Amino acid sequence: MIRQLIFLGPPASGKGTQTNMLQKEFFLPHIDTGGMLRAEIAKNSPEGVRMKELIDKGNLVPTKIVAKIVRERVEKDDCKNGFILDGYPRNKEQAEALEDILKCINKSKNVEIFVINLQVDDEKLVERIVNRRLCKNCGTIYNLLYSAPHEDSTCNQCGEKLIQRTDDTEEVAKARIRTYHEQTYPLIEYYENKGILYNIDGNGSVEEIYKNIKKVIRNDQEKITA
Ligand code: AMP
Repeated sequence: MIRQLIFLGPPASGKGTQTNMLQKEFFLPHIDTGGMLRAEIAKNSPEGVRMKELIDKGNLVPTKIVAKIVRERVEKDDCKNGFILDGYPRNKEQAEALEDILKCINKSKNVEIFVINLQVDDEKLVERIVNRRLCKNCGTIYNLLYSAPHEDSTCNQCGEKLIQRTDDTEEVAKARIRTYHEQTYPLIEYYENKGILYNIDGNGSVEEIYKNIKKVIRNDQEKITA
């Protein structure tokens, strides 16, 4: 069975951490639209400069741009046996664009789509965001309060210097959470109506949340093969 996982949830709900772990265990490509946009910005292209302005204000990048990036990525050979979407779709327009993309690539395949919604209390999000640090080299995510690196600002995994994202400030965090409520939150009902939404409590420990996500994915697999 081919699994296509879609992760919903507010900024800093743990999507990146959980999808990184799933990617390693299930050998599924991890498609992180935020990371892909940051890579484009790092090239300093005129389009990248425009994207950075939007991201640093807590706004979304236009659907046309993101949908193109996602389409090109999921059409690649390594996505044939499934993939994990982290941070896409983020509004109804993107969800509809994704449906078109999946219709094209899934044609006669036996695919199971899981939409995992990580639920975290709003008041925890800003604190998580401003204390987040990221390894640009291997993608490991740290939190200075809950999962600090062994050595100050150095990645435990690869020794690279850790960075703080330019949009991980308190002011931008608040704007991103507002954008989430206005545009992304309605997707919960959208996918609930399709019967493919799985709510996971994202307030617990990383390991506990991971176990619950795997339960969802595996239980459904049992149901299908029974
Ligand atoms: P993230 O790394 O998922 O927190 O995303 C960082 C920022 O990139 C977001 O706040 C948006 O500005 C932009 N972004 C990421 N994914 C999308 C998307 N699917 N649609 C529009 N903008 C996005």
